[in-house]
Amino acid sequence: MSRTVAIEGGGAFAVEPGEIVLDAAERQGIELPHECRAGNCGTCRVKVAEGQVSYASWPSALSEAEAACGFALACQARAETDLVLRYERVAYTEPSRQSALVIDVAPLAPDIVQVQLVLPDLERLEYRPGQHVNVFLEDGTHRSFSMASPPQGNAIDLHIRRIANGRFTGGMLAQLQAGDMLDVEIPLGTFHYHPEDERPILLVATGTGISPIKSIAQALMEDPDCPPVALYWGMRTKDELYLHDEIPAWGEKLFEFAYVPVLSRADASWSGRRGHVQQAVAEDIGDFSEYAIYLCGSPNMIHDAKALFLARGAQPAHVYAEGFSFQRHEAPAATLS
Ligand SMILES: Cc1cc2nc3c(=O)[nH]c(=O)nc-3n(C[C@H](O)[C@H](O)[C@H](O)COP(=O)(O)OP(=O)(O)OC[C@H]3O[C@@H](n4cnc5c(N)ncnc54)[C@H](O)[C@@H]3O)c2cc1C
Repeated sequence: MSRTVAIEGGGAFAVEPGEIVLDAAERQGIELPHECRAGNCGTCRVKVAEGQVSYASWPSALSEAEAACGFALACQARAETDLVLRYERVAYTEPSRQSALVIDVAPLAPDIVQVQLVLPDLERLEYRPGQHVNVFLEDGTHRSFSMASPPQGNAIDLHIRRIANGRFTGGMLAQLQAGDMLDVEIPLGTFHYHPEDERPILLVATGTGISPIKSIAQALMEDPDCPPVALYWGMRTKDELYLHDEIPAWGEKLFEFAYVPVLSRADASWSGRRGHVQQAVAEDIGDFSEYAIYLCGSPNMIHDAKALFLARGAQPAHVYAEGFSFQRHEAPAATLS
C-alpha cells in the first residue's frame, strides 16, 4: 500500500512500499534537499513531525539520538506510515545553473588548492555561509564544494583537497587554470550559519571542512551579538594546517574566541594537541547541552563527534553537520512502475 508524505507548509507525494522517500519525491517532481544519496553527508536531514520511517541499513550521518528526536535522512528513509515532514523555515536563495570563470588556482597545502571563481552573469550572489556549489563534469555528474567565504559580490572561494584517483580533484583540477569556465549550480545545501541560534558556538572541522566553517566564522565577525566561539580544527600534519597563521587573528573580531588545532599524525616538532579532533573536544568540554555545534569534514569524524557529544547532552536540534562524502555517480533509483 502506498503512503502519503506531506510537507508542512505545502506539497505532498506518494511513496510506494520499499521506496526511498527522496526517490519518491523526485519521481513526482518534488525537489527535496540532498547531496550524497548515501546517508553520509546529512544534507537531507529532516524532522519527521508525524509518522515513522525505517532504514535498510542505518545511515552513518544519523545518530540514534537524532532519530529518537524525530530526525530522518530522506535519502535513505522508507515510510512505514503516512508521514509529515518538517523542513526548516528559512529563506534560501533559489539555486541556479551558472557559468563560472576561474580567476585563480593556487596551492594552499601539499594536497589542497584554492580555486577562486566569479559568476559573470550575476551582479551579486546571495547564499547562507556554510552552503556549497556543485561543479558539473562533462558526463553530467557533479562534485560538491563549500564556499570558504561569506557572500562577496559575485566571487566565491573554494578549498579543494586532491583525492588520489578522484576524477575531478585528482585529474581535471590539475589542468584547471585562470580563464577556464566551469558549469556550476549554486547555492546549495542545508548546512549553514544559524544566527537565530544564540548559544555559545562550537565549530569542529577536519581537513577542508574548515572551508564552510571559515565562511561561518566570517559571518559571525559581522554579528554584533556574536556569542563565544570555539574552533577545533583537525588535520593530519602541521604542513596541512593552511590557515594556522591566519586563524588566531579571527579573535580580534570574534567574542571570546578559542582556537585549538589538533593533529592526528604530527611529528615530534608539534607541541600542540594530538589525536582525533572530536576526542580533543570531548577532553575539554564535559557538558554540551548549551552549545550550538557545527561539524564539518570527514563523515567518520562527524559520526564519532555526534555519538560523543549527544551522549553528553548536546541537543540534536542544535547540531548542524555536513559530511564531505563523495558523490554517488549513477542516476537516482529507477522509477517504480
Ligand atoms: C556537501 C558537500 C560539500 C563538500 N565540500 C568540499 C570542500 O569544500 N572541499 C573539499 O575538498 N571537498 C568537499 N567535498 C567532498 C568532495 O565533493 C569530494 O571529495 C569530491 O566530490 C571528489 O570528487 P572526485 O571526482 O575527485 O572523486 P571521485 O572520482 O568522485 O571519487 C573517486 C574515489 O575517490 C574517493 N573519494 C572521493 N572523495 C572522497 C572524500 N571526500 N573522502 C574520501 N574519499 C573520497 C572514493 O573512494 C571515490 O570512490 C564536499 C562534499 C559534499 C557532499
